[in-house]
Formats: sequence, structure tokens, C-alpha cells
Amino acid sequence: MSELNDLYQEVILEHNKNPRNFHEMPDANYRADGHNPLCGDQLKVFLRVDGDVIADVSFTGSGCAISKASASMMTQALKGKTREEAETLFDEFHRMVTGKLDIETDENVLGKLRIFAGVLEFPARVKCASLSWHTVHAALHGEEDASTE
Ligand code: ZN
Repeated sequence: MSELNDLYQEVILEHNKNPRNFHEMPDANYRADGHNPLCGDQLKVFLRVDGDVIADVSFTGSGCAISKASASMMTQALKGKTREEAETLFDEFHRMVTGKLDIETDENVLGKLRIFAGVLEFPARVKCASLSWHTVHAALHGEEDASTE
């Protein structure tokens, strides 16, 4: 697990410093606000869905390094995915950070997102890592607010 932890630290710091897709999206057709009161993370996510495909996804907001890095990597992972693929990723990510999916033994399509298995060792950070995912999930289901509470 320690190699994964080093990678985890490195990737989080890098994405926090240079978050990807960090901007508003005027032509978004789905958006939602996400809030993690426990840590103070606040994010807005924007999606442009064409037919069944997530053509573009972005975010803005402020929060800790983990919430920001997770949102940044989420936008990369979701671009070009169908709604169904996004739903699978949401489900797998959620199960991974809550310890219900073992990335070593359970089949999954998480790819690079696997580094967030590292938050399992920091229970207070689980909500930081999953905030952006909850927010996108809410947006795609027509809800405009998501809270980790
Ligand atoms: Zn946080």
C-alpha cells in the first residue's frame, strides 16, 4: 500500500496546484452545488450532456487539496463517458472510498482513480474525496444541491 500512498500524495498535490477543467461553463445543461460542511469544501460542477454522452464537464469552487484533486480527476474521467458509464464510476468510486470495493481483487473500471483508495486510511477525508462525485450525481439526476451530510 505504501507505493500507492506515495503516488496518492504526489497526484493530489499536482492536481490541487493545477486543477483540470477548472472553470465555469456557460452552456452547461446540468449543474449543481456541492457542500461538505465537515471540511468546508464547496464546489460547483457543470456538465454538457449531448444525447447520452457527457461531452464536457468542469468545476469551480474552493476546498481542501483532496476535494479539489478529486474533482479535477473526476472531470478527466467523465469526459466522453455515457450516463451509464458515469453511474458505474460513481458507484465504484463510492464503494472504493468506503471500503466496500477492494481495488486489488474486485473487478473495476476506476483506472487512475484507484489512487483515492488511499483516503481509506484517513476516514475524515472520505467526504472530501467523494464530494465532487456526489455533486455530479445530483446534477445528472436533476438536483441542484448536494451535501455530504
Ligand atoms: Zn475537504
